[in-house]
Amino acid sequence: MPSPDKPLVVKCPICKRPVPWTPEQKFKPFCCERCKLIDLGEWAMEEKKIPGEPLSGDDDGNGDWH
Ligand SMILES: [Zn+2]
Repeated sequence: MPSPDKPLVVKCPICKRPVPWTPEQKFKPFCCERCKLIDLGEWAMEEKKIPGEPLSGDDDGNGDWH
């Protein structure tokens, strides 16, 4: 059973440094803004890997000008 006055510490998902889970930690679960941005960048790259649906092509019945 953990003692209540011991602060919870998590690991930064990016650099694995211990991050105290306190209100002062603005970037938790990351240790700093940099790691948070790195994580966001990885998310952006993941989205780029997934091909998006083409915006043009299919006839949606909205263009009645032919
Ligand atoms: Zn970090």
